[in-house]
This record gives sequence, structure tokens and C-alpha cells, in this order.
Amino acid sequence: MRALLVATTNRHKLEEYRAIFANLPYELLSLNDLHIDFDVEETGTTFQENAELKALAYARASGTLSLADDSGLEIDALGGAPGVYSARFAGVDTPYEKRFPILFDRLRGVPPEKRTARFTCVITIAEPSGYHQSVEGSIEGLITDPPRGTNGFGYDPIFLVPELGKTTAEIEPEHKNSISHRGQAALKARALLEHWPPSPSSPK
Ligand code: IMP
Repeated sequence: MRALLVATTNRHKLEEYRAIFANLPYELLSLNDLHIDFDVEETGTTFQENAELKALAYARASGTLSLADDSGLEIDALGGAPGVYSARFAGVDTPYEKRFPILFDRLRGVPPEKRTARFTCVITIAEPSGYHQSVEGSIEGLITDPPRGTNGFGYDPIFLVPELGKTTAEIEPEHKNSISHRGQAALKARALLEHWPPSPSSPK
């Protein structure tokens, strides 16, 4: 068994990764488990930059193989906004039901079929040496007005999955996990870990 630090304080996220990485020879630990209490500033302009920043910082600080993720919503008609600013868009403490009208306002005049968007998640796994690999998952959808559904979190009530005719807030959590950006990225991360380190001779 090798220790794998999952860069989160969120118990729920840790359990989700535990379920996806079941039967791999890794013991998943949280930041709390290792008494790490510093934040890494997300100064990157891409999900990958932010995931790398976090995974590398925690790997170096803990001396433990580390995993970090970064995710968000990109709306094409808004040039990819809110993107890496998804959590902070309109203010980090602003409830999502107050953020939605702001987005709808900015999308005024954009026809429904042109309101294309995606959720993206990048997961980086990093060694204390600095060696690291990243994987990405995404799910395509349309921004829908009015918001629908009560499951999920964040922008789920305005994210319509066209093939299902439902928002990600209207489908069951297990179903969402199986199709979501995070679920897909996590499966790719599992594949990475199955063969980790992919190539010890290729330092990054
Ligand atoms: P983080 O990468 O977990 O910090 O997520 C960044 C932000 O992106 C969240 O605070 C949400 O605003 C948004 N986001 C990421 N994934 C989802 C999702 O599955 N549903 C809704 N919003 C999401």
C-alpha cells in the first residue's frame, strides 16, 4: 500500500475517490489526516494549471504522492466564462440562484441552441520530486433558463444535458457521477494509478 494524499478537506470528495480507486494499492488520506492546513492560491488561468499548482504544492509539502483536481463551467458564448473563476463568479459567497440571472443577462440575445457549455475537470497526480501527470474529463451541455432540479450543487440547475432532456440537478447523484466531467476524469486517474509511475525516466 502506498499513501496518496487527496488535496481536499471535503470528506464527501475523499469518499468518492475512495470508491473509484477501490482495490488499487493506495491508502487515500485527506489534508486533515496529514494535518496540512495551508491553502494553495489558484492563480492559474486554466484548470490544468490550477490542478498542477495544488498537486505539486501538497506533494512537496507532505513528501507524499498527491492528487488535486480543478473544475468549472465554460460557456462558449461568454468566451469560456466563468471557467477557472466558476467558484468565485459574482462573489464567492453569492448564492447560485443569484448568480444565474447574471449569466442569463449576459446571454440575452443568444438563441437557446447557441448556449453551449461544458463542465471540465482536470486531475493532477504529483510526486514530491515534481514528476506529475494530468487527466481531463468533460461533459457537454446547454445553459437553460429557468433553472431546474434540486440535486447536485453549483451550476447544476442551469446545465441541461440534451441527450437526457434534464439538467444535472434533475438526475440522480449516481447517474451524474457516471457521466460527469469529474467521474470521467477520476476513471482516467484510476487508469494512471494502475500503471504509476507511467515512465520513471521522463521527469517533468
Ligand atoms: P472545484 O474544482 O471543486 O473547486 O469547483 C469549482 C467550481 O466549479 C464549483 O464551485 C462550481 O461553481 C463549479 N462546478 C464544478 N463542478 C461542478 C458540477 O459538477 N456541478 C455544478 N457546478 C460545478
